[in-house]
Amino acid sequence: MSHTTALHGSAKEDILESLYDQFTVDDQCLFKITQTFLSEISDGLSSYGRPMAMIPTFVKGVPDGSETGTFLALDLGGTNLRVCEVTLLGDKTFSLRQQKYKVSEALKTGEVTTLFDYLADSVDAFLTDTPSGGHDSHVSHAEEDSPYVPLALTFSFPVEQSALDSGVLLTWTKGFSAKNAIGKDVVKLLQDAFDRKHIHVKCVALVNDTVGALLSRAYTSGGCILGAIFGTGTNGAYVEEVSKITKLGQNPVAAGGEMIVNTEWGAFNNSRSALPTTPYDNKLDRESINPRFQAFEKFISGMYLGEIARNVILSLIDAAPKPVLFGGRSSALLNKQWGLDSAVLSEIEEAWEGLGRFSAPEQGSPEAQKEEKLRRIQGVLAQRLELSPPDISLEDADIVRKVCNVLGTRAARMSGTAVAAILVHTGRARLWDHGEQSSAGLKDEGKRIGVGVDGSLVEFYPNFQTKLRASLRALVGPEVESRVDIGMAKDGSGVGAALCALVAQRQNQANHI
Ligand code: BGC
Ligand code: MG
Repeated sequence: MSHTTALHGSAKEDILESLYDQFTVDDQCLFKITQTFLSEISDGLSSYGRPMAMIPTFVKGVPDGSETGTFLALDLGGTNLRVCEVTLLGDKTFSLRQQKYKVSEALKTGEVTTLFDYLADSVDAFLTDTPSGGHDSHVSHAEEDSPYVPLALTFSFPVEQSALDSGVLLTWTKGFSAKNAIGKDVVKLLQDAFDRKHIHVKCVALVNDTVGALLSRAYTSGGCILGAIFGTGTNGAYVEEVSKITKLGQNPVAAGGEMIVNTEWGAFNNSRSALPTTPYDNKLDRESINPRFQAFEKFISGMYLGEIARNVILSLIDAAPKPVLFGGRSSALLNKQWGLDSAVLSEIEEAWEGLGRFSAPEQGSPEAQKEEKLRRIQGVLAQRLELSPPDISLEDADIVRKVCNVLGTRAARMSGTAVAAILVHTGRARLWDHGEQSSAGLKDEGKRIGVGVDGSLVEFYPNFQTKLRASLRALVGPEVESRVDIGMAKDGSGVGAALCALVAQRQNQANHI
């Protein structure tokens, strides 16, 4: 009897050890990913139709905080739809009033005109129902006497832009699949919806959320070179020298200067040549609505972390000869694809770290404190995984929190490779060989490097930023890493859109002189 138990014990440990191993990305793997990133960045800048789209945004230059005006913004992200009115006060600050609306599954997957009708209706509802905010200014009209209210659209999907106010949808991501949208101009889709409904709003600019994050961070902090989202999806936009965007060819905008490029790094390495793919990642990809697309995003973002965790947990429930978790019992929620929300991973890690609603200090000896934390996790598991409490042992709680930890750590460390690649590509860092470091000859040598970030993972997931930074440090060395200021781009989608509307307005006025 004791012999079998011992055998079982070691089988269990072997299973767990090999599991944690598969999800551990060492520095060497991070290096390989970053090197591949550099070549896919160059590839995307020189040709259209590459996995990493490297989209020229037609936004030239970044704000410095002195901009003023009131603008309307519509933000369609992965999870929320928001309408907001933003007032840029010109002293690096802004005021904002907003309304959130829900986007149902039916809207995400139905006819695209129904989705855009809903967007237009939401703007209409905002304009009619919400009283103007605590400032005197009105939403400024693009041209004097124009009866139209100008609006900027933050559209957080890959759009190949042909101007500040036009661009066609390349593909859906993050669970959207609305029909008859791919290849269509999203500004026109929105404008047609406004016009159909006789809503006097004109869409003057189109902006990706990463571009919004970059612009708003630049506005509030005075300088920023990269805007990145680590949320439902992941992506980054950075300031590029126009001369390096060689695929623009003879386009007049290519005359010189700088332009923000939307990398669409969620689609980095769709071939998976450098990504540390496990069977769990393959399963998730195969069962997703966009297999073989958004490969990088599927390792990192909030849309997918819960689903990877669910599959890992199920494999431990199903383990043979004996179950590793919950005595082999599951729940309806765990058995259902997408049943597990990534926020649960965050909550479990919070319970372990004693953060958020778990911040009350544990009492007693280290063992007693550990037990107290595991009891909190038991509670989360019973509630959020809908498991029956008698099925959840303290050991189960400990295993699940380790699973969450390896998945969260992998996501954060891989996120660091994207940031490192942009720093190296723009000449601000070199890949570090762990030797003597010198920043001589680097762009912005000795200066602070601004990075604006947004998204649920970077905002709420415990230690995400710390782990991302550790990965960045391993890749570019401590000298450069210590000069990188990573800051939240607060309300980036709204403020960034407002800044884009301002650019559009200025360009419009310039054209009318
Ligand atoms: C989209 C990007 C977006 C990112 C973050 C990705 O799925 O392709 O356009 O910036 O999510 O929202
Ligand atoms: Mg968003």
